[in-house]
Amino acid sequence: MTDTPKIPRLKPKPAIAKLAGRKLKPATLMMGHGYDPQLSEGALKPPVFLTSTFAFESAAAGKRHFEGITGKRAGGAEGLVYGRFNGPNQEILEDRLAIWDEAEDALCFSSGMTAICVLLLANCSAGDVIVHSGPLYAASEGFIAKTLSRFGVTYLDFAAGAEGGEIEAVLEQAQAMAKKQGGKVAMIYLESPANPTNALVDVEAVRDARNAVLDGNCPIAIDNTFLGPLWQQPLLHGADIVVYSLTKYVGGHSDLVAGSIAGAERWMTPVRMLRNTMGGIADPNTAWMLLRSLETVELRMQRAGENAAKVCEFLSAHPKVEGLGYLGMIADARQQDIYRRHCNGAGSTFSLFIKGGEAESFAFLDSLRIAKLAVSLGGTETLASHPAAMTHLSVPDERKARLGITDNLVRISIGIEDPDDLIADFDQALAKV
Ligand SMILES: *Cc1c(COP(=O)(O)O)cnc(C)c1O
Repeated sequence: MTDTPKIPRLKPKPAIAKLAGRKLKPATLMMGHGYDPQLSEGALKPPVFLTSTFAFESAAAGKRHFEGITGKRAGGAEGLVYGRFNGPNQEILEDRLAIWDEAEDALCFSSGMTAICVLLLANCSAGDVIVHSGPLYAASEGFIAKTLSRFGVTYLDFAAGAEGGEIEAVLEQAQAMAKKQGGKVAMIYLESPANPTNALVDVEAVRDARNAVLDGNCPIAIDNTFLGPLWQQPLLHGADIVVYSLTKYVGGHSDLVAGSIAGAERWMTPVRMLRNTMGGIADPNTAWMLLRSLETVELRMQRAGENAAKVCEFLSAHPKVEGLGYLGMIADARQQDIYRRHCNGAGSTFSLFIKGGEAESFAFLDSLRIAKLAVSLGGTETLASHPAAMTHLSVPDERKARLGITDNLVRISIGIEDPDDLIADFDQALAKV
């Protein structure tokens, strides 16, 4: 293009990504990456940009921005255009999110489910087949099985712990199904660890199976909400797209709802296009809150992980405890092997199996004094819930049994309180059972 207008950059190049030949760590980059105070009156922290639209420097610049927005030119908009497409807070957030997973690009959304729905919609056409690991977060499973099916998209699943051979067989079946329907295998969608059993998916085995049966045009996406960004980096193990509910560990204070995806630009571009059309980008205030949260995400997750290890050590020895679904205490050799290859930490969300059934579990939950009785996870505070009676109430009994969602299962997300106080709370609550 000969008449390309000169457009001032809306944000600085990440000039400090390296220092004296050293690649800076995410914890350092979270304090300033992608933001230049001199562009905002010297404000140390980015202001919240509450504006629905942005003034163009010239008509030619406006035209060029829209070429990026509409996909006439690859790489998205070079400037700020309109609040449904982009904004300074969201762009800084996306730059910083991409760092944790060493991704080329990231996109933020108004919730984890918006991220997941837009990602799937952008990749599927009528006749296509989605292959997913099971179980998934109930709303993700519902969107695939109940909503996408209305548009001619079908699915197959395999159990989270499946071996390479089983995964290949499911992919071959999916390929045959897609051929008959006149479509393709559009996406392999994973969630690991699975909720609430904590069964891990072998991402490397899924990648190998994909490469053996399909071609590289079928992306592998993985919901990394339970272990990311600190304890598992699936893009390094063969996944193409990583998905988050930022509502959980990344937001981390139980005060916002948001989501994101990250990966290579080739996978982000179609999703960005659909987000431009549908909306669903995180709002400026939520994006600002997430910038605040990202500064402490490593500290918070480390502390929560250490707390969980101490609490689980106590619980595992307690006479009223039947067992634990905690990644720091895996008995199964295959699961242990996946853990060793994929995870840097056991997380702080686990299942506690109390001796007894629903009555005993409810007595325990109702007796907790520090831990709060609420669904969700990854916040600074410790939460406990009963999946069979709450998050998974609508799951048919037979499927519940198959997924190991029993009446004596209590789901716990450990926060950053003092670990001995938490142990004292669990001790007195177990005494009431
Ligand atoms: C919470 C959650 C979601 C949905 O995220 P929202 O931010 O609530 O929309 C998706 N996947 C997993 C694993 C979750 O825990």
